[in-house]
Amino acid sequence: MAERAAEHSFASAFPIPAHLIGQVQSRLAYVDEAIQTAAISEDGGTVRLELAGGLDAAALAALEAKVLQVVEEMAKGALPPKVEVLEDHMARPVPYAEDPMPELLARGEVSREHTGIYSLGPLVTRLIEAFERYFVELAAEFGAAPQRFPTLISAEKLDRVNYFRAFPHSLTFATHLREDLHVINDFAEHTHYEEAGLNAPPESFSRIQALLSPAVCYHYYFALADKPLPGGQLIATAVGHCFRYESSNLNTLERLWDFTMREVIFVGPADFVLENREGGRQKVAAFLERIGLAYLVESANDPFFVGEFRKQAAFQNAFQLKYEIRARLPFKDGSLAVGSYNYHQDFFGRHLNISLPDGKPAHTGCVAFGLERLAYAFLCQFGLDPAAWPAEIREVLA
Ligand code: 5GP
Ligand code: ZN
Repeated sequence: MAERAAEHSFASAFPIPAHLIGQVQSRLAYVDEAIQTAAISEDGGTVRLELAGGLDAAALAALEAKVLQVVEEMAKGALPPKVEVLEDHMARPVPYAEDPMPELLARGEVSREHTGIYSLGPLVTRLIEAFERYFVELAAEFGAAPQRFPTLISAEKLDRVNYFRAFPHSLTFATHLREDLHVINDFAEHTHYEEAGLNAPPESFSRIQALLSPAVCYHYYFALADKPLPGGQLIATAVGHCFRYESSNLNTLERLWDFTMREVIFVGPADFVLENREGGRQKVAAFLERIGLAYLVESANDPFFVGEFRKQAAFQNAFQLKYEIRARLPFKDGSLAVGSYNYHQDFFGRHLNISLPDGKPAHTGCVAFGLERLAYAFLCQFGLDPAAWPAEIREVLA
């Protein structure tokens, strides 16, 4: 019989600053396999965990020490970031205020296949197609070259751009059985799904050569690696599946293990990348105004893991490297990042040896949209009846 979950609360070594509560909380999901949910009190002083039952006092003390390590590494002495708001349309009136998930599930418009793995029916699919129609037009305005990228991504190349240091917690690995008759026969005869996983012994599997891709634009930088940048500047666009394992954070359409991202990607000198990122933002703002979406655009940081978090987040903040489009979720009085405007400086140019005509490393940036999140936020604001949707979207559907 499964053990019942037990609640466990304890005081943080020092108060967690308000601006970090969400970030620390989501990292706690990765601290110990016994943690089912983690919450931090509003004043940042108390950590509340729901734990799989059956931990003895020693295990509990070890778990608490790991939690406090995360709190300390992420929050101790952290200065509040300078939050820069580029657009604020949160107060735009929208016609809907319910949580669309129960109805989407009931109608079979969304089906949960597994944690973080969802299938989408015709309503959501058509809505995403309408957004895609716009994004393809947007990319065409930049003269972006269309690209198709694989779902798998090279472990060797990800290592070259330090991905394993920055985001180890969200990686998803691709493996296969070792090329060995006994291993393969054994697997075929004995493997079943049990206790939340396959029962095959770990040594049946090959070493990792590839992962499931966590982003779209990396493939483009890898394709441009180790040579001069053709023409000195490039713009491309692609849509692709992205994979970010989010542990117990994966329980609604807001966060998926497997989601799709549309990107417009800029590679060239710094001013070329920055001007295009800004031009992209202005074009997208005009589109979101036509739809009437309630959202804001503000500075943000990537979800770096504990060890890299403080340094990298401060760096992104200081150099205005990332802005997020956060759409309002009226039913919970919250917001959700549906897209981002990113500038990587010459990080990829240096690590991948992509050179400009003057011999310096290329700069890169991208405009990225999470398609499922955009559709979900739209449904939260406009509901499930297309008759009540903005004309801009209805025209595309027709
Ligand atoms: P970024 O590269 O800024 O982290 O991601 C770009 C966009 O992809 C985000 O703004 C968001 O819309 C989407 N995205 C990122 N992570 C997830 C996720 O876990 N689930 C879903 N559904 N979308 C995500
Ligand atoms: Zn990108």
